[in-house]
Amino acid sequence: MMNKIICLIWKRTIWTAAALAVFVLPCVAFAASDGAAGTSAPGNALEPKSREAVAPETALPAVSVPDAIYPGQAFLVRVCGKGLESVSFIWLAKTLTVPARVDGAEGVSEILLPVPYEEKTGRTAILRMRVMANGAIMNMKRTIPIRYKKYPEQSLSVDSRFVKLNKKDLERSKRERAETLTVLNAFTPERFWSLPFQRSVPGTLRSGVSSHFGLRRVFNGEPRSHHRGLDLRASQGTPIRACADGTVVIAADHFFSGNVVYIDHGQGVVTMYAHMSRIAAEPGQKVKAGEIIGYVGDTGRVTGPHLHLGLSVQGISVDVLPFLEKDRPSSSRAKRRGASVNAGSGENRPVASGAPATGTDISHSAASEPARSAPGGN
Ligand SMILES: [Zn+2]
Repeated sequence: MMNKIICLIWKRTIWTAAALAVFVLPCVAFAASDGAAGTSAPGNALEPKSREAVAPETALPAVSVPDAIYPGQAFLVRVCGKGLESVSFIWLAKTLTVPARVDGAEGVSEILLPVPYEEKTGRTAILRMRVMANGAIMNMKRTIPIRYKKYPEQSLSVDSRFVKLNKKDLERSKRERAETLTVLNAFTPERFWSLPFQRSVPGTLRSGVSSHFGLRRVFNGEPRSHHRGLDLRASQGTPIRACADGTVVIAADHFFSGNVVYIDHGQGVVTMYAHMSRIAAEPGQKVKAGEIIGYVGDTGRVTGPHLHLGLSVQGISVDVLPFLEKDRPSSSRAKRRGASVNAGSGENRPVASGAPATGTDISHSAASEPARSAPGGN
């Protein structure tokens, strides 16, 4: 028992340290561990093709990746160095080119990359990079272990018509899913996002979540695919704010998501905000972080008012929680109750103003995502 607790604490410590390293430490810290200190992890390899064209001092851009990655989670990769021009990241059979931005004397290219929820664990993924620096191209790679992450099961009892769709509803939901996937798979080189993402509704990490990403859902005893977003507690009519700067790419009424807004933040990062009572943005509109884009509601297939917040990275749904700011103060002191969801069969059940909102959705998990290729091969 004690061993398990120590093991759990150790795992959490490792993950927290990795996250801190990615978010907090400056470029130079990684340069030190990549070069002179000689602490390159086993398996990390540099495959110079034209190093002779580059001065030794500038030939080794510093690359930072986490010590481990997890299914359903995204991770940040940072490449920096003098004379860095751009980096093409090759991941999940996609080549994503990010131009470097100038940061002091160095160029920096960063990207968010996803690990699909269904990804096998206990193996090693390979991230390949084509680095343009000082007029030369270097091929680099990093190997990163994919570790196990536990996602609990959640049983819900819901109206059967939301589990077994009629032909018309099925066709509509498929059409909307296809339209959405087109938006999610777009990659634009310009970046508008920054971390952490603003919390779209007031609340805390501890008590503000009614349903986590990745829950393996069982509807009326039938296993379904996982929950593809994060359900945040919020009362009907609470303003919903954009997590980061970006462009509204969808603002529509969808079968499962109800009134929903998608914001493209550039470089393959898209957030979605579902079940709004009212949309306050339109497609093509540029928004700033914190700008109101709609109001909390219970439209679509839900058990009560809440905000379903989704994050898509390079076309794949991942957990937004690690990237969200920790807390956002609320003017309401209404006590939030525990995190379990007791859905019953009361879809679209209104919640009195100021009452704790415990809604979740049966959307975003009814249809499986298409199969993906493994990250970087094996
Ligand atoms: Zn949800």
